[in-house]
Amino acid sequence: MDRDSRRCTCTDSLHSVEKGRRTALKSGIGIALAGAVGTVGLSVSPVSLAAALTRKERDSLTPDQIIESMKKGNERFRSGNAHQHDYLAQKRASAAGQFPAAVILSCIDSRAPAELILDSGIGDTFNARIAGNVANEDLAGSLEFACAAAGAKVVLVMGHTDCGAIKGAIDNVQLGNLTGLLAKIKPAVDATQYEGKRTGSNIEFADKVARVNVQNTIDDLRKRSDILASMEKDGKIKMVGAMYHLSNGKVEFLS
Ligand SMILES: [Zn+2]
Repeated sequence: MDRDSRRCTCTDSLHSVEKGRRTALKSGIGIALAGAVGTVGLSVSPVSLAAALTRKERDSLTPDQIIESMKKGNERFRSGNAHQHDYLAQKRASAAGQFPAAVILSCIDSRAPAELILDSGIGDTFNARIAGNVANEDLAGSLEFACAAAGAKVVLVMGHTDCGAIKGAIDNVQLGNLTGLLAKIKPAVDATQYEGKRTGSNIEFADKVARVNVQNTIDDLRKRSDILASMEKDGKIKMVGAMYHLSNGKVEFLS
């Protein structure tokens, strides 16, 4: 704790008195990241997480450190030890500027909210959500903004188990504009090697397709975006896939 921090008597958590963006307490991913670079150390729990990453803190981190902090955030979430976020303070700390460490492309499924399952806070990550976590031109553009313009260092493509979009693609569902979206998942269905019943109701098959689809989306982004591909080649960003398991809350990183 720095000298500007004080113990609050209203709850059993600690609050910090902010000094601009410099505070002792960091928001979700920020706290792990800040800890990784030695700017803060917290030994108290529960903790009120009040600040967002500064540019200096974010820029000093490697993609691997950011991925590690996301893994730790998911461990906190699934073990019931998620941080106690002070979202209003995070909002205040990030209002004048944002320095997110990562951009996440994930499914719209209501059961897979990226910030919550990774225990991150306001200002920590860019988030793009689309059924079946596929890519298109607009999403590639959004990710290019996040990395090349705004400085994010990790692209996380996250699928999940029991995905309705994946099941729909397997079963050739036709529904308005959804039909075209599901067509983007079909290559993953065709590429998935599986001996059993290849139907959407077979969750084991659907989950295997979802894993292939994550990798296909990463490959698709590399093909669509010379910017992302070259940043990855130069080691400025890492592109990584993950599967979120609805049953146990684990985000399984695939590489
Ligand atoms: Zn889904």
